[in-house]
Amino acid sequence: AARPIYADQLPAGLQTISNIVAVSSCKGGVGKSTVAVNLAYTLADMGARVGIFDADVYGPSLPTMVSPENRLLVMNPEKKTIIPTEYSGVKLISFGFAGQGRAIMRGPMVSGVINQLLTTTEWGELDYLIIDMPPGTGDIQLTLCQIVPLTAAVIVTTPQKLSFIDVAKGVRMFSKLKVPCVAVVENMCHFDADGKRYYPFGRGSGSQVVQQFGIPHLFDLPIRPTLSASGDSGMPEVVADPQGEVSKIFQNLGVCV
Ligand code: ADP
Repeated sequence: AARPIYADQLPAGLQTISNIVAVSSCKGGVGKSTVAVNLAYTLADMGARVGIFDADVYGPSLPTMVSPENRLLVMNPEKKTIIPTEYSGVKLISFGFAGQGRAIMRGPMVSGVINQLLTTTEWGELDYLIIDMPPGTGDIQLTLCQIVPLTAAVIVTTPQKLSFIDVAKGVRMFSKLKVPCVAVVENMCHFDADGKRYYPFGRGSGSQVVQQFGIPHLFDLPIRPTLSASGDSGMPEVVADPQGEVSKIFQNLGVCV
């Protein structure tokens, strides 16, 4: 935890949460949700009480990536609160569990829905809430960061040169909000085949990211068929293979947040 949360800054629903970590990317499809979900389950495996808030209202991935028995959020009619669903010990909130189709909403409405889901949920005592941010650094993301006092941010990107610009945008947004970016995850950095290692998006930009933006940690996440298969199967890879190579990467990321 990089920054303490002061109770008086917090919306009521978030007062029992010690650390709120944003997992962010500038573009869709770079593996942000994969990182958010596997990070959450790694922290849970380390003994923490964890929740995931899928803030990607337009394309919620959480309902595909985890398979809770109860796939609909339940309201507590007396307290007017939302009870999160749960899978393998982690509490889950996603627009995809709200029982509605994909949203057609303008930005301010999205911010309203996110705000309501976040602050009226009965999270209970949590050590970590992982927020799977909507991709980008626009109004929705800014509003979300202003509602929630984040303790840390993790930026997910791919290794192309162009992604530099993305990382810079992300770092700038979080630094404006005084949220420390504790790590960059360079996803899909390489794959191994026939005893050789391939770098389909080029290599070497990682260390530059660390130097230029002063981010303390950089993690390479390889392209792994098991990662996409587990993402589709409803059981995160770190749950399916807790001793595997991917789990070790997430354990190292877990101690940074
Ligand atoms: P985002 O949240 O940035 O849109 P996702 O996490 O949903 O991205 O990932 C997009 C797709 O790529 C998913 O099908 C996911 O399973 C797959 N994927 C992500 N990272 C990897 C990886 N390192 N190896 C293989 N597949 C991956």
